[in-house]
Amino acid sequence: MANSDTEVVIIGGGAAGIAAGRRLGKAAINCLVVEARSRLGGRAWTITDHSGFALDLGCGWLHSADRNPWVKIAETQGRSIDKTPPPWTKPALATGFPLADQREFWNAMEEFNQRVDAAAGKPPDVAAAMVLAPNGRWNNLINAVGTYISGAEFDRISVRDFANYADTRVNWRVLEGYGATIAGYGDELSVELNCPVLQIDHHGKRLKIETAKGAITADQAIVTLPSAVLAEKDHLFVPALPEKTDAAKNLPLGLADKLFLSLDDAEEFENDSRLFGRTDRIATAAYHLRPFGRPQIEVYFGGRLASELEAKGERAFVDFAVSELGALLGSNFSRRVKPLHIHRWGADPFARGSYSYALPGKADCRAILASAVDDRLFFAGEACSKADFSTAHGGWITGVAAAEQVIAARRRRRS
Ligand SMILES: Cc1cc2nc3c(=O)[nH]c(=O)nc-3n(C[C@H](O)[C@H](O)[C@H](O)COP(=O)(O)OP(=O)(O)OC[C@H]3O[C@@H](n4cnc5c(N)ncnc54)[C@H](O)[C@@H]3O)c2cc1C
Repeated sequence: MANSDTEVVIIGGGAAGIAAGRRLGKAAINCLVVEARSRLGGRAWTITDHSGFALDLGCGWLHSADRNPWVKIAETQGRSIDKTPPPWTKPALATGFPLADQREFWNAMEEFNQRVDAAAGKPPDVAAAMVLAPNGRWNNLINAVGTYISGAEFDRISVRDFANYADTRVNWRVLEGYGATIAGYGDELSVELNCPVLQIDHHGKRLKIETAKGAITADQAIVTLPSAVLAEKDHLFVPALPEKTDAAKNLPLGLADKLFLSLDDAEEFENDSRLFGRTDRIATAAYHLRPFGRPQIEVYFGGRLASELEAKGERAFVDFAVSELGALLGSNFSRRVKPLHIHRWGADPFARGSYSYALPGKADCRAILASAVDDRLFFAGEACSKADFSTAHGGWITGVAAAEQVIAARRRRRS
């Protein structure tokens, strides 16, 4: 790409950027999506394993599926929606976690959620860990589940933000991959891949977007960079926009990584069942056995455990999982599993984490991050959503909202 000119530049081709591009396309507005990676989708990423199964290394669940716009898009693309209830909505396998203990844990979790809602309604906005039951028997497991939900332990998370998340509790999947669905929705767009944006100069009459492949001039831009990427780029905007950088710093990306293992003699386990590695510590993984009935295990790591393992390298995830599974299912179990795939989202320079949470006292930063600047710089991405943050449908909603702001601003200019 040499230097070019367009009406609107969309920075980042993930769920938000693609949804924004499609909305602008419908309004016949000329736009260019500028994406640093060699593919569209961002944190939505489906790969195909050697057996032909689609593996989602990023988002996999169509959360709030009964109002999730990606469901209709996937259906329009001819994909199959799997409505099997997720493993976290039914009892886990009893191995290492007797059903009586599971009932106690679920009650403790329910009470924790009620205290979260009560605390969120009154100031100050404290860390969610403040409402764990003092010396509660299930605090570590509740916190471990928190690391899967938010990518961070509750001592880091704003109780108000956590309570703001709106969940209809309907969760489906796309057999051919959520990532493939999202990337496929971008097929019709004008996209420049392998093109990291280096600077957004908004001091002149038109915007000047400096990229690794040259400069683009534009009337308006929609910035959809992950909050953790925005936070580390103090010099992205010229003139600087410190309120945006600060808001992004207060909305870090938590860390969640998935490891896929192949599993021999998988029939021993129920389809879509689950095990916790340990029930007495935070640093433990969750094991989704036979996802979609496949001979595989999808292992979920979150929070500080995921960070520590990332620092040691990919093999550390496999060793950790094999050791927890061996302790639960016998030392011979290690012979039945082999690593398939993992992606370290924290080490990924174009993500720097998995999904956003707000630091204690900082729930309002989502609105600050989402607000437009001078009717020509607009912001989208899951971290901008008050109630659907952390998700791919949150990305879609904020992308479409930003595109509609662009359309309204262009109308105002003309009138
Ligand atoms: C392991 C994991 C599991 C998840 N599970 C689920 C789930 O089950 N359900 C769910 O709904 N969500 C889930 N998510 C979260 C979901 O994937 C994200 O919330 C969503 O994809 C974010 O979309 P986005 O457009 O806001 O951001 P992104 O997808 O991150 O898009 C931003 C884009 O900007 C690009 N970019 C970065 N830097 C630059 C630059 N300098 N110049 C140009 N482009 C740049 C990136 O490459 C990226 O493509 C999961 C995420 C992970 C990592």
